[in-house]
Amino acid sequence: MNEEYAFAPPARPALPVAGSERLFPVRRVYCVGRNYLEHAREMGLGERVPPFFFAKPADAVAASGAEIPYPPRTASLHHEIELVIALGRGGRDVGIDHALELVFGYAVGNDLTRRDLQSDARQKGHPWDLAKGADQSAPVTPIVPVALCGHPNSGRIWLEVNDVPRQHGDIADMFWSVPEIIAELSTYVALAPGDLIFTGTPAGVGALHPGDRVVGGVEGVGVLEHTIGAG
Ligand code: MN
Repeated sequence: MNEEYAFAPPARPALPVAGSERLFPVRRVYCVGRNYLEHAREMGLGERVPPFFFAKPADAVAASGAEIPYPPRTASLHHEIELVIALGRGGRDVGIDHALELVFGYAVGNDLTRRDLQSDARQKGHPWDLAKGADQSAPVTPIVPVALCGHPNSGRIWLEVNDVPRQHGDIADMFWSVPEIIAELSTYVALAPGDLIFTGTPAGVGALHPGDRVVGGVEGVGVLEHTIGAG
């Protein structure tokens, strides 16, 4: 019996690493909002306002292939397919020219969002946390190390629900590039190994329902699959 803690500490969230038996230990999950112009338009957000950051709980991460229960307190669960940056090094006030040195690899994630809670919070000026932070609200593929996928700066990003196309775009159309995201976020918080950064979603977000099968990917990085279970 370890007596350091009052009870056994929870297991650290982790994701598989492509081509390796080792796991990527997740420390924090950050997200960029409004990083594609067409998605900003569909959300009714200003076009000249720069992107912004928010966060999800680290244990919201779920593995590709999971059945994700339809979360409670929503009637509007939305998909947001995104390129995910996985950091293997940390830093503060990181210069854009050095930002890529922090990157361990990349993945594909779905920033599952209780859109009705988010809209309500936005109208009331309340925090978004619970709109974005449902249990298992961040399914992510295995992390692909930079040695295997390089630093993708263009390529198709897409998502289908029950084989019907919903979202498509190109990661070249991100308002903030990967180095800009890392540099900007590192002026707010000290980044550290194990941090994941969801980089924003292209246009075409929409509702999911129990029984849906979701498949989405980023060209050159991977393909995420999961289903939505009963609530
Ligand atoms: Mn998002």
